Amino acid sequence: MRNYNSRQRILVTGGAGFLGSHLCDRLIEQGNEVLCVDNLFTGAKQNIEHLLSHPRFEFIRHDVTFPLFVEVDQIYNLACPASPVHYQHDPVQTTKTSVHGAINMLGLAKRVGAKIFQASTSEVYGDPVVHPQPEAYWGNVNPIGIRSCYDEGKRCAETLFFDYHRQHGLEIKVARIFNTYGPRMHQNDGRVVSNFIMQALRGEPITVFGEGKQTRSFCFVDDLIDGIVALMSTPKDFTGPMNLGNPHEMTMLELASHIVELTGSRSTIEFKPLPADDPTQRRPDTRLAEEMIGWNPSVHFRDGLSKTVDYFKRFV
Ligand code: NAD
Ligand code: UDP
Ligand code: UDP
Repeated sequence: MRNYNSRQRILVTGGAGFLGSHLCDRLIEQGNEVLCVDNLFTGAKQNIEHLLSHPRFEFIRHDVTFPLFVEVDQIYNLACPASPVHYQHDPVQTTKTSVHGAINMLGLAKRVGAKIFQASTSEVYGDPVVHPQPEAYWGNVNPIGIRSCYDEGKRCAETLFFDYHRQHGLEIKVARIFNTYGPRMHQNDGRVVSNFIMQALRGEPITVFGEGKQTRSFCFVDDLIDGIVALMSTPKDFTGPMNLGNPHEMTMLELASHIVELTGSRSTIEFKPLPADDPTQRRPDTRLAEEMIGWNPSVHFRDGLSKTVDYFKRFV
């Protein structure tokens, strides 16, 4: 699209969610015009309340499974519930959001000539047998399980991005985001960090699924947003996929004890059944991000966690 001033007009789908709202903040800070599109399924107006009266910010309530006709220079496609509890609530809608949402946003990018970012996920690696996971690993995903609506939806979205790139010459940037935490995660969204913090703050038992030996690697949201924005600025021919995540790996039992210690909680551990297809291990190989965009997460887990705990205190 022709730009009559130097400002970029940027569409952020899922912009009222956890990551999307932080991305909107960053893009506004950089002087851009931001169009935030969200159906508010898991996102909330409170996340963007401070931006609603900003002259360079606009919000549209819209479901990306339906076509969208707007004029923009760049698109960040983040619309999709990310917590297993949410994405399994209406799995058909989850697949539609990833697949039809990607088709519509790619169609839009094609029409207006916009560069387009896709928030893909470490879930494309499924229950990985290669550890840590490099981008070249094709993954180990169950196509018919309860996580498949999310995992396969995101895999298909990646396929669409690369086919629009090859077939229609679109400029694409695909990030595979690993578990990220921070302020504005939904307090009831069922993800492990928000669950454990809320339970610890309320003095309720900490619900560890399975034996708690499964691992995840947690990235603080500010680091992740740095990575996303840097990936968007890579040379035109660089598409990714690029892992973005913090390689600092821990078991869920270790996570529980960090949170209990930091909050000074008297919560005990309560073991609950492990959900089906729950990946046993996950850690990003971040060498590509380091080489390509000089990115390395810098926020120490303890610091990120205490900022997150401070945020959650208002909901107790
Ligand atoms: P989130 O649930 O807080 O945000 C998702 C946003 O998308 C919400 O505001 C929701 O209302 C919106 N949305 C959902 N379906 C929509 C639809 N059909 N049309 C329009 N809006 C819709 O989750 P998040 O953690 O901010 O995740 C953002 C993106 O990053 C997602 O695509 C997710 O898959 C991806 N991701 C996140 C993580 C993580 O750890 N947070 C990890 C990997 C990938
Ligand atoms: N689309 C959209 N906004 C646009 C342009 C296209 O939502 O500005 C949608 C359009 O409705 C279509 C999809 O994107 O369903 C894919 O568009 P594309 O041009 O690739 O395919 P076609 O329209 O030929 O099916
Ligand atoms: N988990 C847990 N207790 C909870 C919620 C989650 O032990 O209350 C576990 C879950 O089984 C998984 C890990 O924590 O092994 C991360 O779960 P989350 O839903 O945050 O993300 P994902 O599984 O998508 O990485």
